[in-house]
Formats: sequence, structure tokens, C-alpha cells
Amino acid sequence: MKSAIIQENLPQLTCPKCKNQKLTIKEKLVKCLDEVCSWIQFRNVCGVHIGIADIESLINKRKTTLIKRMKSKAGKKFDAYIVLKEDCTTSFEFENKKKK
Ligand SMILES: [Zn+2]
Repeated sequence: MKSAIIQENLPQLTCPKCKNQKLTIKEKLVKCLDEVCSWIQFRNVCGVHIGIADIESLINKRKTTLIKRMKSKAGKKFDAYIVLKEDCTTSFEFENKKKK
């Protein structure tokens, strides 16, 4: 019997940290296969599930499309881009960078 799990068409992505290993894309996370590097990115970011296309642009372009309706720890909804920094950790970039 064939597996009932529907396989998404997963892109081949190279780890942004060690730039050597392939990344394994799981339902809940994206992870480097290298045990020493062990780069990991959870796909649930502030309550929003990050799609494959955005994972791909995060790795390849170091930035996702605008992720909408994420929820902060204070319970506030916000829209932001997820960006991959130099040290390969992620942070948010907000659309309106108005000076206060
Ligand atoms: Zn790696």
C-alpha cells in the first residue's frame, strides 16, 4: 500500500549557514542535516505557518514575502518580512519603516 502522505514538491535547498549540506524540509521545521552546523528554522513563526515558497526565498533571497497576521507575544497582530541575517538567524523586517 502506498503512503497516504501527500508530498509537496520540495525544493532542493542548501544550508545558508554551512553552505554545504542540504536542508531537510519537514512539516514543522527546516533543518540542516549536518550535526555540527545544526541550523534550524521552525516553520511556525508567530502563529503563522511558513509555506515552501517563502522558505525557499528565505534561503535563496534571504527574505520572505510579506507574512501577514503574525501574532506577537503581547497578542498583537502584525505583518512583517522574515529576513535571514549574516549569522543565519532570522529576524523581522517591517514594511513601514517610518521614523518616529
Ligand atoms: Zn548547515
